[in-house]
Amino acid sequence: MQRLRRGLYLLESALANCYLIEGTHGLTLFDTGQPSAASALIAEIERNGFSIRDIEAIVLSHCHFDHAGGARGLLERHRVKVYAHPADASAVKGEVRRPRSLGMRLWTSFLRLRWPYRPLEVVVPIDEGETLRPLPQWQVLRLPGHTPGSIGLFQPGEKALLCGDALNNRHGRLAVPGDVHCDDPVQARESARKIAALDLEVLACGHGPVVLSRAGLKVHDLLAPLT
Ligand SMILES: [Zn+2]
Ligand SMILES: [Zn+2]
Repeated sequence: MQRLRRGLYLLESALANCYLIEGTHGLTLFDTGQPSAASALIAEIERNGFSIRDIEAIVLSHCHFDHAGGARGLLERHRVKVYAHPADASAVKGEVRRPRSLGMRLWTSFLRLRWPYRPLEVVVPIDEGETLRPLPQWQVLRLPGHTPGSIGLFQPGEKALLCGDALNNRHGRLAVPGDVHCDDPVQARESARKIAALDLEVLACGHGPVVLSRAGLKVHDLLAPLT
């Protein structure tokens, strides 16, 4: 576990980055890793002095199995509400198959063989402009494109954004997800521009190291050749 800011921690034991946020009412978990990740995440949380019984909410950045897959296992240990955007909720519940793009379908089919996805029965819808009871300082942002229901959590006071796969920072190289990794590449670039317009210091992506300073500037530099 890495402390990023006061009350914001990176969990490192899943395929995708997951984040633990200390709010005014307990803890919130942002993303849950792949289906096999639940027990490692629970161990990491407890090893660092937190209790999973203090988790009040789970928020899913989007429906992909490396972000939503661990939720079912976590709920078996501790029942809480799981929030996701309505446009991804049916995929989280296993009612439709995501993603739509061929490249991502092939990739996730391969990974699902190894880690079968276990869908959730109930997902609580959440959308831009709403705040969660445990996290009054954090705002939900819609960041569609990678998937239709991709969302982020933004904390203006700390200038911190958790963006899921709306941007990634694999190997420390900040990037908009490639077209084959997007349901709607045009929307994905619009979401990147929306991120660039924020006053941002910390950018915590779903993959790769967290950008801990001057994140807004770095997103601007990234988008300059695309505009
Ligand atoms: Zn994804
Ligand atoms: Zn991902």
